[in-house]
Amino acid sequence: MIKENDKTCAVIGSGVSGIAAAIRMRNKGYRVVVFEANSFLGGKLSSETNKGYRFDMGPSVFTFPEYVDELFILSGKNPRDYFNYDRLDPVFRYFFEDGTSLESFDGKEKYASELAPKTKDTKEAILNYLDKTEKMYDLTAEVFLHNSLHKFKNYFTKAVAKGLLNFGKIGAFDTMNGANEKAFKDKRLVQIFNRYSTYNGSSPYLAPATLNVIPHVEIVKGAYYPHGGMHSITKSLVQLAKEIGVVFKFNSPVREIVVENNLTKGIKTDNGFEGFDVVISNMDVYNTYHKLLPSCKKPEKLLNQPKSSSGIIFYWGIKRRFDELSLHNILFSENYREEFETIFTKNSIYKDPSIYINITSKHSPGDAPEGCENWFTFINVTNNQGQDWDKFVNESREHVINKINRILKTDIRKLIECEMVFDPRVIESRTSSAFGAIYGNSSNNKFSAFLRHPNFSKKIKNLYFCGGSVHPGPSIPLCLLSAKITTSLIK
Ligand SMILES: Cc1cc2nc3c(=O)[nH]c(=O)nc-3n(C[C@H](O)[C@H](O)[C@H](O)COP(=O)(O)OP(=O)(O)OC[C@H]3O[C@@H](n4cnc5c(N)ncnc54)[C@H](O)[C@@H]3O)c2cc1C
Repeated sequence: MIKENDKTCAVIGSGVSGIAAAIRMRNKGYRVVVFEANSFLGGKLSSETNKGYRFDMGPSVFTFPEYVDELFILSGKNPRDYFNYDRLDPVFRYFFEDGTSLESFDGKEKYASELAPKTKDTKEAILNYLDKTEKMYDLTAEVFLHNSLHKFKNYFTKAVAKGLLNFGKIGAFDTMNGANEKAFKDKRLVQIFNRYSTYNGSSPYLAPATLNVIPHVEIVKGAYYPHGGMHSITKSLVQLAKEIGVVFKFNSPVREIVVENNLTKGIKTDNGFEGFDVVISNMDVYNTYHKLLPSCKKPEKLLNQPKSSSGIIFYWGIKRRFDELSLHNILFSENYREEFETIFTKNSIYKDPSIYINITSKHSPGDAPEGCENWFTFINVTNNQGQDWDKFVNESREHVINKINRILKTDIRKLIECEMVFDPRVIESRTSSAFGAIYGNSSNNKFSAFLRHPNFSKKIKNLYFCGGSVHPGPSIPLCLLSAKITTSLIK
């Protein structure tokens, strides 16, 4: 039972973090209104259909389902009445230009025993690496993911002391690629472990080896598939939020956060001013400051950190089934280093991009017509700096089609029945992500965790932030933790 109080809270944006923050604030007894600029909810975690094909428009890899469950339990509901999922095994299929392919499995033991015989590395080497990443995760998670990094008192905890005592073990002074090249002889294994830098839009040749905790999450904590696809996360959380009394306003872009004498007073939409005791912005923090708080002093250093990569996505209806593909597939580039240099140094598109193909109809047959498949075909690209994206999209389409044809020995062009395309400009306009960067600031710097904006304003009372552009960072689980940290700071 929610213990009502007379306080009110506005949440700006209905990304997964905004919805989670709204649920948590409602459970604290606040009257909560979510203002969403779009006509649909979920931000990046949304879904569309085209000619009988359904597509998840953004995230496709789902980890830590317990963070979704937690919101139902907090609200006194049984999560299984709203939201269900399966643990995946196998998880990914990898294809290489030399004609070989590898598959990744669930759990350390199975992963190592299945991969070792097909690579130049031993089972012991793979297990040793996975043990190391597990230790790194155990040392860092509490400090970097579960608490505000910006509250002085949090630096005097057991978890921080343990992290500091073991600082040498968290890989802060090496790059992901550096650590992975030391761990493995097989270039394909190095590439497989390097690719996890893309989960937060960074380069494995620049990002600290601490990010090698990401494969630990996927391989050991597990990768999941939500029944009905990723969008069911948004749908079920919105259902829960509405049931407990959160109000959603669609087509309601917030134009300004109203502040007087450094105290938040409310927000302005096209319908005028509405007063609120607390405002939580789930809008990208760069744009929150630049668009909604134009006259406030900005934390320039944090806002101007280099931004993450973006993506070009072809949502294709394919009128054939491909048994050689599974739910998650990657067709790797031949020269990974050159690919990342093109993205992060040349701010351009690469001629031989690694391609991620996600096909939810493998698990949810209703997502495509009989005998067909819904392909979410993604390549990492630079963020939007005003490049000629029409040209980049056309060129990338050719690169992607040629590579798929080469590796799968097919002619995919003839099989594309319908198409929608996202590029960094679309991502920017659809979710207000600065420069169309998918993951906020990049993590190409060992201090990046400390250079994300806090979950609260240091200058303006009762103004808070949640979502992928602020602490602890992007992805569904981190956005859910962001909402948890943010709301825990509100009395
Ligand atoms: C192509 C792609 C693939 C991804 N893959 C994965 C993956 O496999 N696994 C994973 O965990 N994560 C993945 N991510 C990242 C993940 O989707 C994001 O980190 C997360 O969904 C961001 O959620 P958020 O709460 O920050 O808000 P967002 O989803 O960014 O939504 C912000 C919302 O705020 C609204 N808004 C903005 N400004 C205003 C305003 N002024 N007034 C009102 N409303 C406003 C926007 O319309 C939007 O709805 C992917 C993202 C993309 C785009």
